[in-house]
Amino acid sequence: MKPFEYQVEATCQYTAARAGKFQTPHGIVETPRFMPVGTLANVKTVTPDQLQHTGAQMVLANTYHLHLQPGEALVEMAGGVHQFMGWHGPMLTDSGGFQVFSLSDIRTISEAGVQFKSPRDGRIINMTPEESIRIQNALGADVIMAFDECPPYPASREAVAVATDRTYRWLQRCIAAHQRPDQALFGIVQGGVYPDLRAQAAAALKELDLPGYAIGGVSVGEPPELIEKIVRATTPLLPPHKPRYLMGVGTHREMVQAIAAGMDLFDCVIPTRLARHGTAIVQGERWNLKNARFRQDLTPLDETCGCYTCRTFTRAYLCHLIHAHEILAHTLLSIHNITALVSFTQRIREAILSDRFVEEFGHWLSPETALSELA
Ligand SMILES: [Zn+2]
Repeated sequence: MKPFEYQVEATCQYTAARAGKFQTPHGIVETPRFMPVGTLANVKTVTPDQLQHTGAQMVLANTYHLHLQPGEALVEMAGGVHQFMGWHGPMLTDSGGFQVFSLSDIRTISEAGVQFKSPRDGRIINMTPEESIRIQNALGADVIMAFDECPPYPASREAVAVATDRTYRWLQRCIAAHQRPDQALFGIVQGGVYPDLRAQAAAALKELDLPGYAIGGVSVGEPPELIEKIVRATTPLLPPHKPRYLMGVGTHREMVQAIAAGMDLFDCVIPTRLARHGTAIVQGERWNLKNARFRQDLTPLDETCGCYTCRTFTRAYLCHLIHAHEILAHTLLSIHNITALVSFTQRIREAILSDRFVEEFGHWLSPETALSELA
């Protein structure tokens, strides 16, 4: 296999769902797969060893956050992000675009890039496509993302069209700036909730023959049915022999719907964020373990889950740790929540491989989707 080859192993006969293998310099990612987010070169409260036991294969880190702290020069000096954080499997860095647009006090967006004030120390930072790629080349993840303009929701068609066109021009600058053949640069399809803009963007990106493609700018506040509509309209326009990554999506329903449309990779901060609020993901539901009904419940958190937390502890113990404000609660719930999402995608993968995807996961699809897929 080439360094970044993607092989389709099986496809569903009723939907566009597919199982595949994505080769990277740090190992193979079996798809479909959920990827946990390690914002500052750590998945919050979870060690790399614990992370590996969740079944996670590829981990994200955030370019924006690592640029602000501790800076890419230090990470590079430490041997790159894998070595720095002690995770030796495949990694992906985002471009920083999403955080620049969502978190910072934006000063100006221009054709050159975005100038913003660091929320950490107030210094003025110029983030451009070239700068994002330079930082990501220094961090050294296997997959790096193009610097894009992520329009908010709601936004006018005109505003989204301007951002989508600019994202394409920025992508061409990213390609020109990219220095490392051992890193795969993925392009990002923008276009907001406008299917024609998404289609134009996908067609333009396809021409560039990139090693992978992402759908970005979803899960930014629009209703779930719009996310599904965008993904169903856009995914078939992406090249079939390349990995497809739906950015920022990680609920059971959204992942099943996107997988049915042909998406492969997902990420979301939800499992660790929920864990820090004492919430567990159980069979796709969210349980608040502070609840009094768990105080004397001596059963495992989820009997069907094979994670360390579920094999070792009771609901009563987790409830106790949360009430006592013990940090161990965050670790144990993060281990479970990440396992819940990764193993969910792993079970979907196995179902696709044995052509049982619709039988086993069709109930997550909306009736309208399921009918149109089966028609
Ligand atoms: Zn578990």
